[in-house]
Amino acid sequence: MPRRSVVVGIFPKVIHRLFPRGAEIPWERELKTLSENLLEVLMANPDAVEPPTQANAVPATQTGCWARIALDVPLHGLFDYRSASAVHPGTRVIVPFGRRKLVGIVVDTPVSPAIAPDLIKPIDQVLDDTAPLPADWLRLAAFAASYYQRPLGEVMLPALPAALRKVSAYQGKRSGGGPVQRLLRRAASTLRTAKARADAPPSLNAEQAQAVEAIARLQGHKTVLLHGVTGSGKTEVYLHAAQAVLARGKQVLFMVPEINLTPQLEQSLRARLAGLLPAGALAVMHSGLADGERLRAWLRVQSGEARVLLGTRLSILAPVPELGLIIVDEEHDVSYKQQDGLRYSARDLAVWRGRDLDIPVVLGSATPSLESWNHAEKHHYLRLTLAQRARGVALPEVRLVDTRRLTLQQGFSPQLLGALEARLRQGQQSLIFLNRRGYAPVINCASCAWVSQCPRCTAYTVLHRRPGRGNYLQCHHCGHQARVPHACPDCGDQDLKPMGRGTQRVEEHLAKLFPDARIARIDADSTRLKGSAAVLFDRVHAGEVDILVGTQMVAKGHDFANLGLVGVLNADAMLFAQDFRAPERLFAQLMQVAGRAGRHVQGGEVIIQTDYPDQPVYQALRRHDYLGFARYGLAEREAIGLPPYSYQALLMAEADELKHALDFLDRARSLPERQPQDYPTATAVTLYDPVPLRVVRVANIERAQLLIESAHRKALQAFLTAWSVAIGDLAREARVRCTLEVDPLEI
Ligand code: ADP
Ligand code: ZN
Ligand code: ZN
Repeated sequence: MPRRSVVVGIFPKVIHRLFPRGAEIPWERELKTLSENLLEVLMANPDAVEPPTQANAVPATQTGCWARIALDVPLHGLFDYRSASAVHPGTRVIVPFGRRKLVGIVVDTPVSPAIAPDLIKPIDQVLDDTAPLPADWLRLAAFAASYYQRPLGEVMLPALPAALRKVSAYQGKRSGGGPVQRLLRRAASTLRTAKARADAPPSLNAEQAQAVEAIARLQGHKTVLLHGVTGSGKTEVYLHAAQAVLARGKQVLFMVPEINLTPQLEQSLRARLAGLLPAGALAVMHSGLADGERLRAWLRVQSGEARVLLGTRLSILAPVPELGLIIVDEEHDVSYKQQDGLRYSARDLAVWRGRDLDIPVVLGSATPSLESWNHAEKHHYLRLTLAQRARGVALPEVRLVDTRRLTLQQGFSPQLLGALEARLRQGQQSLIFLNRRGYAPVINCASCAWVSQCPRCTAYTVLHRRPGRGNYLQCHHCGHQARVPHACPDCGDQDLKPMGRGTQRVEEHLAKLFPDARIARIDADSTRLKGSAAVLFDRVHAGEVDILVGTQMVAKGHDFANLGLVGVLNADAMLFAQDFRAPERLFAQLMQVAGRAGRHVQGGEVIIQTDYPDQPVYQALRRHDYLGFARYGLAEREAIGLPPYSYQALLMAEADELKHALDFLDRARSLPERQPQDYPTATAVTLYDPVPLRVVRVANIERAQLLIESAHRKALQAFLTAWSVAIGDLAREARVRCTLEVDPLEI
C-alpha cells in the first residue's frame, strides 16, 4: 500500500498546492525520517544556530535561508519554506499551507531543502514579537513527539498560548500589531499588585534541614524523591530549595497536580519572594486561566521576568530559558497525565527535562508512585525522607469500621456519627470524603428492573439536584442531560427511587442529622463557576465551615488547620476495579485524604467505613505503612511482569460499531506478522488480544483497546515508531479513530 496515495488522500488540495502534479512528493516515510534526523541534530547539537556550510548547498536567497517548519497538521513531518532573511530556530512564522495560512515554528535551517527549490514557497511573515523559543524547549518538544509518537507540530503548537499560534491574531484589521503588543498596551493600565501574607517562615526541623542540604549539594542533574508523610512540611523543603536556586539567578518550575492548590502556594511563594525578588517574579499557569492571562504568564516566564513558574501539568511545556530546578509536588498524582491530544506525563517529562538541562528535579509525595519508588530502590533517584509531621503532631489514628453487621443511618455508621458529634462539640472541623458527585448514582423502579440509563452510553445516568429548579439526570461520560421521568418508562409505576448516594445527598443527610452545623460541599458541581472553588476553600480555612463534604478535589495537598476528623464513605467501590493500578491509587488517595486530619491539632482521626476491613490496602493504611504497601505492590508487579518491570502502550479504537473497532485492532495486531522486516524488535514485544472497553459505548461511539507490552523500553519504542505510521494508514482505510498512548495509567 503506497503511502503516497494516503498522504494525497488526506490532503489532496494541500498537497497539490504544495507540490504540483507529477512532482516528487516527500511522503510520509520520508517526512518521518526528516523528523528523526531533526531529533538527532537537536540532541547532538542543541545550539546549532548557523546552518553548516556545504559545497553543494543551495542558497535560498542572497540574504535568507531555508527554514524547516513544524506545523500543527496530522502529518509526521516538517515542511520546508524559503525565508528572505536569516531566521533563528525557534522563531514563529506564518506560512501559506494549501489555501490556508498557518502559524509554524522554525526548527531547523537546513543547507538544502528536502524538495526541489523552485517548488518551495516563501514565509509569509516572521513573528518577532517574542524571542525565539529556546533550543532546550525545541529539544523537549522533539523528545515528547518521538516518545509519545506524535507529529512534532502537534506537540509544539498546542503547547503555545492560543494567540501565539493563531494567524488571525497577527493578520487582519483587528490584529493591532499582534497579541503581544495588544497585551502590553492593556497591561499598562491593569497592573495588579499582589498582596503577600507575611507569616514568618518556620525554622526547619532536622529532617527538613537535611533534605534541603542534600538538594543544595547536588551538582548537575539528579532526581530526588522526597518521601514525606502527610504534614511533614515538604512545602517548606521545596521553598528552601527554590530560594537557593533563585539566589543563583536561575528560574524555578514548581508543579502541583490541582489548580485549587495554587492559591495557598501562591501566597507562600509571594511572601518568600517578597524579600528576594521584585513583584512580578511569580507566574501562575493552569487550564483555568483566560487566554489573555495565560499569554501574559507565558510571556513573563519566557522573557525571564518571572523567576518562578507555579502551575499544573501544562506548565512543563512552557519555555523557561534559565531553568535551574523543577519541583513536582504529589508526583504520584494521575493529574500529571494528559488524557487527550499529546498524552504526556508531566512528571516524566520533568525528569527528562532535568536530565537534558543537567539540573535537579525534586519529586515529592507521601505515597510515591511505584515507578518512582522503584527508581529510588535501585538508587537511580536520591531518596530523602521526612518521617515526622512538622508541627510535632502525631499522624491521625485510622479506624476501620466494619459495616457488614451494622445498621447505617443514611449511610453513616454510629461510630462516624459519634465522632462527628464529638468534633462539633470541640469546635473542630470534619471532612466527609466520597468520590462520587451528584445526588444518587442512579434511579430505579421499585416494580420492574428499570434503571436510569444514558441513551448514548453504556452507563447509568446520575441524579442531580438543582436547588429551586428541580432534579435532572446526567451522564457523567458524555454530559447528556434528561428530565427525571414522573413514572417508570417501562411499567408506569410512579415509585422511582434514587439508589446509593453522591455528595449532594450526603450533604442533605448531614444537614438533617446536624441541623446546627455549617456544612459545605466541594466537588466539580459546586465549583463550576470560575473562582468559586477558591471562595469555598477560603471559607473552610477561615473556620466558617464545620463539616466539609467533598470528592478527591478536597483530598489533596490542602493544609487545613482546624480539621480533626476525616470520614471515608464508599471506598470499597474502588477495591475490585479491573485496573492493576487500582489498589495503588486507592491507597494513595486514602492516605492523602487521611492526611488532612489533625495537621495542626493533636488527636486527628480517620474513620473508613468498609465491608472488607481485612483487605491489605486498608490494613496498610491503618498502620500508615507506605513502605510495606510498596514492597508488597512491587513484589506482586515483578512476579507477573507489570510496570515498572515492563513497559506498556495502549492502542484504543473508536468506531460506530464495536465490531469495526475490534476488526481494526485485529488487523493492527497482525501487521508485524505480515511485514516482519519492518519490525525487527517485534519478538521482544507482546501484543495482547483486543478487548472492548469496560464502558463500551460513549456518546454513541463504541470503543475497544489493545495492550502492547515489552520488558525493554527501547524495543517497545522502536516497535511503536514503525507501527504508529502503519496503524495510522490502517485506521484511515477502516474509518476508525485510533489513539496510541505510551505509558498508559489506566488500562
Ligand atoms: P506536606 O506537604 O508535607 O503534607 P506541609 O508542607 O503542608 O506538609 O506542612 C504541614 C504544616 O506544617 C504546614 O502548616 C506548615 O506550615 C507546617 N510546617 C512546616 N515545616 C515546619 C517546621 N519546621 N516547624 C513548624 N511547622 C512547620
Ligand atoms: Zn418499572
Ligand atoms: Zn452518556
